[in-house]
Amino acid sequence: LMGFVGFSNLPNQVHRKSVRKGFQFTAMVVGESGLGKSTLINTLFNTKLYQPKEPLPPSAERPKTVAIESISADIEENGVRLRLTVVDTPGFGDFVNNDESWRPIVEDIESRFDQYLEYENKVNRQKVVDDRVHACLYFIQPTGHSLRPIDIEFMSRLHTRVNLIPVIAKADTMTDEEIADFKTRVLADIAFHKIHIFQAPTYENEDEESLAEAEEIASKIPFAVVGSDKIVTTPDGRQVRGRAYPWGVVEVDNEEHCDFVKLRQMLIRTYMEELREYTDDVLYENWRTEKLLSMGV
Ligand code: GDP
Ligand code: MG
Repeated sequence: LMGFVGFSNLPNQVHRKSVRKGFQFTAMVVGESGLGKSTLINTLFNTKLYQPKEPLPPSAERPKTVAIESISADIEENGVRLRLTVVDTPGFGDFVNNDESWRPIVEDIESRFDQYLEYENKVNRQKVVDDRVHACLYFIQPTGHSLRPIDIEFMSRLHTRVNLIPVIAKADTMTDEEIADFKTRVLADIAFHKIHIFQAPTYENEDEESLAEAEEIASKIPFAVVGSDKIVTTPDGRQVRGRAYPWGVVEVDNEEHCDFVKLRQMLIRTYMEELREYTDDVLYENWRTEKLLSMGV
């Protein structure tokens, strides 16, 4: 265990358990086609800590996502090695009829539960591979109005199966004030429709620093994100990941410009363990109970 430092905010017991099992974390991106899901995955992986072996040529155009696919990489966060997988989904909006476009996504999540159940039932349980989806980033179109019926439908179909984390896509297309208003409206809609989004638990014996961090993260939900895998030059000559406009550069990694850093921090650092635990203890258990009941066991 000597090589593992960091994750200092985790209760010791949880930490030891995770280190023993190895960190596996799977996130999924869902939402309308063209909202920047695939780009955000690249942004997530292409961090200062992780250098892909074969970077995309700078001019490579991203092909449209046509099937559910996973991308995995080993990353290192605070000295802890982590196998991060992101499941990319095609997104809706490309079909005349979008009524059932949530179905293949829910089926994918459930088939991962199925697979996990199979592993658990094997005699040799040492080799349990956890491919379950621990977090689902739901991309909301930056309309500035409110949630659309299709968003409500999707989130309502998903929230009993996965930890939902709403994000406002392409936040660089809105002003700070518009984003703040939109966030308020989106949260009101989510509450009105009784959609359950991931809520981080707080611990009784938490120190001030962790409490402040938790509050800071919670205050950003739904995260307003900007994705980019391009390096651009700021007016003052810095090379940053961002999107260039005639009026300036929106920096992905600048917390004054968007919530990408906070989102990444929530997923990979602060709440990874809580997301995994809620998936295991609540979402998976509920699914298993439903399944057994439906089978008449
Ligand atoms: P997906 O269909 O949701 O996977 O969307 P893509 O990642 O393929 O992106 C669709 C288009 O939106 C591409 O032209 C991207 O360059 C662009 N895009 C991605 N992220 C952002 C963003 O944060 N802001 C803006 N303005 N454009 C973005
Ligand atoms: Mg895509």
